[in-house]
Amino acid sequence: MSFAHTNRALRCRARQNRVPQAAVVCSNQQLIPTTRAILWGVTGTRQYLLERIDDVAVVQVYADGFTSLPLEHKILVWHLYLAALAGRDIFYDQRHRLNLEIRDLLEAILRHEAHVDPAVLAEVRRYTKLFWINTGPFNNLTARKFVLNLTREQLLAAVHAAAREGATFASTPEALVDRLSPMLFDPSFDAVVTNKTPGGDRDILEASSNNLYVGVRMSDLANFHERYGLNSRLVKRDGHLAEEVYRVGGRYDREIRAIIGHLKNAIPYAPPGLAASLRASIDFYRTGEEAERTAYDIAWVSDQDSPVDTINGFVEVYMDPRGVKGSWEALVYIVNEEKTRKIETLAANAQWFEDHMPFEPRFRKSNVLGITAKAIEVVFETGDSGPLTPIGINLPNEQKIREQYGSKSVSLFNINEAYEESTPEGMRTEFSWTPEEAARAKKWGAFALEVTTEIHEVIGHGSGRMADGVGSPHLMLKEQYSAIEETRADLIALYFVADPTLADLGIVGAEDHAALIQTAFEYYARNALVQLRRIREGTTIEEDHMRNRQMIVAWLIAHTRAIEVRKCDGKTYYVMTDAAAFRQGVGRLLAEVQRIKSEGDYEAARALFDAYGIHFDPALRDEVVARVDALHLPSYTAIVMPRLMARSRDGEIVDVEISYPCDLETQMLDFSTFARSADALATPAASR
Ligand SMILES: [Zn+2]
Repeated sequence: MSFAHTNRALRCRARQNRVPQAAVVCSNQQLIPTTRAILWGVTGTRQYLLERIDDVAVVQVYADGFTSLPLEHKILVWHLYLAALAGRDIFYDQRHRLNLEIRDLLEAILRHEAHVDPAVLAEVRRYTKLFWINTGPFNNLTARKFVLNLTREQLLAAVHAAAREGATFASTPEALVDRLSPMLFDPSFDAVVTNKTPGGDRDILEASSNNLYVGVRMSDLANFHERYGLNSRLVKRDGHLAEEVYRVGGRYDREIRAIIGHLKNAIPYAPPGLAASLRASIDFYRTGEEAERTAYDIAWVSDQDSPVDTINGFVEVYMDPRGVKGSWEALVYIVNEEKTRKIETLAANAQWFEDHMPFEPRFRKSNVLGITAKAIEVVFETGDSGPLTPIGINLPNEQKIREQYGSKSVSLFNINEAYEESTPEGMRTEFSWTPEEAARAKKWGAFALEVTTEIHEVIGHGSGRMADGVGSPHLMLKEQYSAIEETRADLIALYFVADPTLADLGIVGAEDHAALIQTAFEYYARNALVQLRRIREGTTIEEDHMRNRQMIVAWLIAHTRAIEVRKCDGKTYYVMTDAAAFRQGVGRLLAEVQRIKSEGDYEAARALFDAYGIHFDPALRDEVVARVDALHLPSYTAIVMPRLMARSRDGEIVDVEISYPCDLETQMLDFSTFARSADALATPAASR
């Protein structure tokens, strides 16, 4: 025991030795506002980190593969890009019924800022940037509302000043500001966008402020046959439930017609598989019917070869506390062949992984089908996937289609690159117990993250089967489903990242494997601590990926000797001390989590997250926040997308150019202008 104590003290001093280094990083950071010399965001002449807004880093992403596409594929990307832009406002409206009006108001001030009081303008600008980044005034990670730190009178004066410069508003400035005031200024009004654990007897739909339901409680749904689960807003009128379907002639008619127009323009340039999937997508947008959605999912997942691809529709269900309604999103991306070959090796061996899952054989698939994976370069993301973006995607979500037709996985490697290139050094050092751990993170962190993300997406989500006679897991596990599924995929990634087979397959070098495993496990343990910085209020975690990550680490701390909680100078460290014990613990937990999913054991899922995944010690969070704030580390990252411009001659597109605006405000104002313009609706090629 005393040895351990001495040892700890020594390591503690080793940590203190690094303090001057941290101070150097800090002084660099202090240069940013004055000189805009963003030292840790620049690689060569390329700028990644653009600016910081409160705790958000804004980062430019680059799509280098675009320039080497043949012209017809550039034109294809162009039309898909317009289709993606055309739907952007749908997601704004889904997140809150007043979002678009608020955005119009804020943008009108920024576009006519000449006579606005400078201090007021600075606050409007700060708030608006956060609003754009989060698609409305709810923090994407905590689900809680942030407010505009002005008085009603200050805002009103700014609106009048903008009006004098030519800004126009739908109603008088007084009426407009009064109507939007509760949303802008009152933190208790519509406080949480998605509230799965409101506490007491509060209803999860009523406690959630999104625009997916109007006046509906969970109890209203008991005997209701929901025909358009994924793609409708559910409204209670005169005591009756009505589904407002997202389709032509229904809700979002204008945007959906525009999307369809651009998708049609894309078809002549698309390879056969993609063309079929675009046609199916158009059919689904037209009718909104379940049968067309299924056909679209199948067409999309069957197209395995197109070098250009898109996701455009109502997809992920995280914003709905019930986990049913789809948030609109669009991605346009190109496939990187070289990186993809490596991932395909994983996919080609999916059955081997399935046969070696550390859970009961009756929950394994005897025939894993069609799991594919692509390393992709994002050219454009919007809606639910931009400016805040995922790093890996596996679709379609519907279990039945996945079991029959497989799924498509993509790893967004240029997004990962942008994250990595913009990560300040302090992020690695502050929470590492030793300098060696920090050095490992620097050397192997990006690769460890890449490999675990790939296993998560390619092997994780596609694996396992339901027990005989058990229905759809998301209906059985209800609000616990997403977190259980993410846990399962993470555990599979952690389990197999440490399997010697990875080296046999050439995914990792045999000589590097031990360092990679160590780095991956250390990163995962550290992250459970570091991620608390994202939840600055309250004492519960809402976001499913964050729940899953805390649950796994807290469970390992409680049940294994893989992770030690250590203290030094009032700072807490999660120290991964035993990689073998870590992997063994991961295997044990995975066996239980798979059983929970396969048997649809709702109570066990609830108990597991309640014990380990949801609640945290606010004092620990405060400590983490203080450490992060001292280092000016960002809590999350927003992406500025590339910009495309088509060049036309005699009505024909002769070239599509890509550029990088490197400025969030410019890009967001451009997008909003586009949404209002005729280009959003008409064939835009000739007019640009
Ligand atoms: Zn996942």
